[in-house]
Amino acid sequence: MKYKRQREEMVKRQIEARGITDENVLTAMRKVPRHLFVSEALIDQAYGDFPLPIGEQQTISQPYIVAEMTQALQLSDQDRVLEIGTGSGYQAAIIAQIAFRVYTIERIHSLLVKARSLFDKLQYHNIVTRYSDGTTGWKEESPFDAIIITAGAPRIPETLVSHLAMGGRMVIPVGDQYSQELIKLYREKHGIHKTNLGGCRFVKLVGEHGWGEI
Ligand code: SAH
Repeated sequence: MKYKRQREEMVKRQIEARGITDENVLTAMRKVPRHLFVSEALIDQAYGDFPLPIGEQQTISQPYIVAEMTQALQLSDQDRVLEIGTGSGYQAAIIAQIAFRVYTIERIHSLLVKARSLFDKLQYHNIVTRYSDGTTGWKEESPFDAIIITAGAPRIPETLVSHLAMGGRMVIPVGDQYSQELIKLYREKHGIHKTNLGGCRFVKLVGEHGWGEI
């Protein structure tokens, strides 16, 4: 009950108040138990207006940015969605409430194992996980109706764009390691349409078509 109330508050003050209107997104965020996606030590901060550490120097995104990116994907219940950067699994869980199926890739094994077991526990059966470098996409399952990259890229990986279906949408933070612009791509008959949704800050997308390993 306590967490349900905190979720209602989160959606009202952080999400609706800042202009998110997609009912599917608002419903998903009222439903998914975000506090289960953070460590027990941070459980009381789970519904705060900020990102939180999830170990391995990675973070679970601020609730608002999850809502903004999900709304930008314009999801329907028929959509097959690719996510790069499973992390805690929270973003995938939100998408799974709305779309037909989510394919999510993570390059840090321990994070993927944790997220997978949570998906099983919560019976989110429409989430498929994979341990690999997501910058090369998921060719066997392509094309996707939507693609979301939840780590900051130095440039837009062309392979990922090629995995987008006609009419497909993609959101990706692009910039240097300190700040990025959230870019939305839309594939239409005449080519790729790009819009800038504004500034953001993500951890690095590390891989063949991302930042190099340090
Ligand atoms: N969507 C996540 C946010 C995780 S932070 C959530 O809701 O919690 C970004 C994640 O991207 C990190 O876990 C990081 O390990 C992962 N990542 C970075 N580069 C990657 C790559 N090339 N392939 C797959 N995952 C990657």
